[in-house]
Amino acid sequence: MSGWFDLGDVAVVPIVETPRLLIDPAEFFPGHPGVPTGWAAEAPWSEPGQLVFTMQAFLVVTPHERILVDACVGDGKPRARPEFDRLDSGWWQRFSATGLSAGDVSTVVFSHLHVDHVGWATRWSDGHWRPAFPKARHVLTAPEYDYWRSPAGAAAMTRTGDYLADSIEPVAEAGLLDLTPPDAELGPHVRLCPAPGHTPGNTAVLVTGSRARLLLTGDILHHPLQLMDPDTSTRYCVDPELSARTRRRTLDWLADTGTAMIPAHFAAPSAGRVDRHGSGFTFAPAVDLHRREAWPPR
Ligand SMILES: [Zn+2]
Repeated sequence: MSGWFDLGDVAVVPIVETPRLLIDPAEFFPGHPGVPTGWAAEAPWSEPGQLVFTMQAFLVVTPHERILVDACVGDGKPRARPEFDRLDSGWWQRFSATGLSAGDVSTVVFSHLHVDHVGWATRWSDGHWRPAFPKARHVLTAPEYDYWRSPAGAAAMTRTGDYLADSIEPVAEAGLLDLTPPDAELGPHVRLCPAPGHTPGNTAVLVTGSRARLLLTGDILHHPLQLMDPDTSTRYCVDPELSARTRRRTLDWLADTGTAMIPAHFAAPSAGRVDRHGSGFTFAPAVDLHRREAWPPR
């Protein structure tokens, strides 16, 4: 367990599905020279010739609400990518170890609809994929849903198969899906921030506590390599140029305001603040927010 983040009256608790997924930089960042020598050897972010990615969701615990931000890959689902196929990760046990049950989750937020952000929205039960959080409203931006149900989205899904059929459609059929504008306020502590590019309706989630605030940046950036070179987008960005502009605009704002961020796929401790450095940015862990004990704190 990687601990949790203390914003005062709000806690952000990472729930990890896969702590270290190794991916070849040439696959993820086409044309990028890869891991610079002498750079992250001491950091948790790379191994020789490979980049380290973490798959995780975030539980946002406010005085009034229990909000799950993103839903990882999910266990037991047939998937085209071998690392995701019929996973047996134990994520649900780690979710349960927070002391919450499925019915306690009031909101599920999908930053976007890629396969590694929707999986735990449903679980297999009685021969069907059914909503895993039956009392939660499931928030998604309207442009995101519309894109994936358009011909362009369907064409993009030929590579992966239609994972929305087992992870999002059962939620929609149960009347639990709430399509919102990309800047929706979800309550006094949580709001969406539009971040188009990686996908058309991609969002970040700004969490504000009494002591600090934290931007869950989702897939605006995937790996610390992109701090040094913010114009590098991934093979999976629907609009790589818009993705790069959104990335730089977000990093500029984080640097200007001193706001901490947690990108969805940064390895633990995941949270940090950025500063400008040359044409890019540096990243320093937000040790002031990090609590090392397990959630819930004793
Ligand atoms: Zn992702």
